[in-house]
Amino acid sequence: MKDYLVKATTKDSNFRAYAINAKQMVATAQEKHDTWSASSAALGRTMVASTMLATSLEKGETGVTVKIAGGGPVGQIVVDSDSMGHVKGYVSEPHVHLPLNEHHKIDVGQAVGINGLLEVTRVQPKGDPYTSSVPLASGEIGDDFTYYLAQSEQIPSAVGVSVFVEPDNTIGAAGGYLIQVMPGADDEAIDNLETRLKQLPMLSELLLKGQSPEDILQLIFGKDELNFLSEMPVEFKCSCSKEKFRNDLIGIPVSQLSEILAEDKKIDVTCNFCRNQYHYDESELTEMVAEAKVNQSK
Ligand SMILES: [Zn+2]
Repeated sequence: MKDYLVKATTKDSNFRAYAINAKQMVATAQEKHDTWSASSAALGRTMVASTMLATSLEKGETGVTVKIAGGGPVGQIVVDSDSMGHVKGYVSEPHVHLPLNEHHKIDVGQAVGINGLLEVTRVQPKGDPYTSSVPLASGEIGDDFTYYLAQSEQIPSAVGVSVFVEPDNTIGAAGGYLIQVMPGADDEAIDNLETRLKQLPMLSELLLKGQSPEDILQLIFGKDELNFLSEMPVEFKCSCSKEKFRNDLIGIPVSQLSEILAEDKKIDVTCNFCRNQYHYDESELTEMVAEAKVNQSK
């Protein structure tokens, strides 16, 4: 099954729902960063939730940057998602593997920690980005996004995210759902939804069985209860380039740039998000110093 996201509303207009299959997206992140199980699950769950959040944005907003730092062994998680289904991310400690928790699942809560914040920055093409944050609820990521939406956006929601990691560290499955309660939804429908979510089999099992995003939403709401509005491909994609990093580098103070030219005669840069490497040799660096001098004397 390819990676994609579906958007739906329930026919009774009580809920808006998103579901996603993101196995390849998380597998790409795993390969690029060589993440081990707990780091894969923490980064992958954050990517899955951020992708759904980014596609649920208000008109005019173009993406979100999510940062999670809970004081656990994986360190900081940073994920960038745009509203077109492109996502990139990294975790500061890719090599974290922990014993399974009491539910025989990867102990993501332990790996992430709860001493810190989930921070979301919404990006708008015009105007300043808007950042809000909440304390981490459990470090399990799904709960933390649910808490963020309730507290910061005042949208009662349910977020389920899952990443299944095989013994050889490859990604067996990844995906999730995001359900938002619409304004004026009736209480009985909300109670029903809570019951159905409790009865839902484990998300990782559904994904491993090859259940599609549509299947998962139909399991939650019932077969004929949904209007599927759209389907969108999603993928790990980083838009970095040698040119973009060059623009950043010529923003470095000329004195520092000249020092690098004199001492190292080159610059090597690695993109945090995709690990692509860019090399600038002595002649390129000489041009960059000249350009920086002109820019910075303005
Ligand atoms: Zn990159």
